Amino acid sequence: MTVPSGARYQVGTVHFTVLNDGVFYSDAGAVFGIIPRVLWERVSGPLDERYRIPLALNCLLLRSEGKTILIETGIGGKPGDRDAASPAADGTLMDALAAAGVRPEEVDVVINSHLHSDHCGWNTVVDERAPQDAPLERRVKLGFPNATYYVGAAEWRDATHPNERTRGTYFERNLTPVADHLMLVDGELDITGEVKFVPAPGHTEGHGTVLIHSGRESAIYVGDLAQHRVQLERTVWVSSFDLLPLLSMETKKQLVDRAIEQRSLLIMTHSPYPGVLRPTRNERGFRELLDVSPLEA
Ligand SMILES: [Zn+2]
Repeated sequence: MTVPSGARYQVGTVHFTVLNDGVFYSDAGAVFGIIPRVLWERVSGPLDERYRIPLALNCLLLRSEGKTILIETGIGGKPGDRDAASPAADGTLMDALAAAGVRPEEVDVVINSHLHSDHCGWNTVVDERAPQDAPLERRVKLGFPNATYYVGAAEWRDATHPNERTRGTYFERNLTPVADHLMLVDGELDITGEVKFVPAPGHTEGHGTVLIHSGRESAIYVGDLAQHRVQLERTVWVSSFDLLPLLSMETKKQLVDRAIEQRSLLIMTHSPYPGVLRPTRNERGFRELLDVSPLEA
């Protein structure tokens, strides 16, 4: 199965392309947290034979004010990065980037919503010139050598000081070379006049979203605020991966309700590719996310 890459959308005068880094599998019970299986299995879609749900890895490419910007870098391609992705790992971000006509050296800005391993994998790649006997974390180089990497300040602090619970997802191999090319973001930050980093705590304390806005139109890359769309529709459905579940509920409520009001698109990392959705309220007043088709080629 080949997943198509490069779904294009437009917000005002800004074009963006969703790039596909494939799919990985995560324990469905963990994704749906305290929600009973009898409820989530109505919406989860098919699981694999180990009760895992396929999660897409949607990244975003756009040009704004002369800058080439990549939002999120997927699960990566270094040894170990895709272990959890098996058996279906179609698509890689670097192939999708090449298909979109962009070389890694041409990326000026990388924005990570947070630094869990399925969101920042291609931040780094294996450096073939490094001594082969060195540990992997010392054999990596930047995946985007000319980029400035934008990350929430609290996220960088937590990723570089993992605790017993977070150690399994904050990998040194995704972080070390980035340290000298970082822009730590505290609060909201305009990266260009059309692209803004907006803190959205809950999944982690330092988690951020990215607002793309032009004229009266906007889109929000929501990162891991939710792994499944139902978690944005019913905000009490919180994943057990969220470190701050009560805050996560509040952040989701505010973000989705404002998006409905302002007719913003929402772009989900883990919804099936391309994961671009329009939030609305259905006739019963409940939040509902509808798929948005890409522009014709
Ligand atoms: Zn994730």
